[in-house]
Amino acid sequence: MTESGRVFVPSVTEEDGGSIGLGMFSSEETAWKVLREFTKKSHLMKLTRSDIVIWEIDVVGEEAMTVLSTMHCRDCPVCKRRTFWVDLESLSALCSGRLCEAWIEESTVEPGKIDLGWPPTRFLKQTETIEEAYTELNAIGAEIEAAGRVPDDPFTSLPEE
Ligand SMILES: [Zn+2]
Repeated sequence: MTESGRVFVPSVTEEDGGSIGLGMFSSEETAWKVLREFTKKSHLMKLTRSDIVIWEIDVVGEEAMTVLSTMHCRDCPVCKRRTFWVDLESLSALCSGRLCEAWIEESTVEPGKIDLGWPPTRFLKQTETIEEAYTELNAIGAEIEAAGRVPDDPFTSLPEE
């Protein structure tokens, strides 16, 4: 058999508990691509989480299933839209909102430290804790709000620092 015998199944869950399957894919890469594409429009829906599950074909019972990734959808600390996808296990988060893409990630260079960024102003910072990282992003959000911007405005004129 040349087939791998496993499929990657991405899905999202709505606020009312309903689950939307996004298909079954033979590679992890495609499953991620489909999920990311879908979550780009998550501000239009009320989503609470996403999952990618691996299913072994022709295996019966619990062992057939492995959860590859679970992410929770929260309000973005910067753009305030419900587009902030948080992976609690890997300590990473990324806003899928247009013109935002605020992110938090555990540092690959200094494990234990937290990197964060906000691409529209090339803002990058490192903090000691995840809470501090949220505080930093909240501060950017407050600045934008104070400047009277709405999420869909271009951020290009926002001064650096
Ligand atoms: Zn955002």
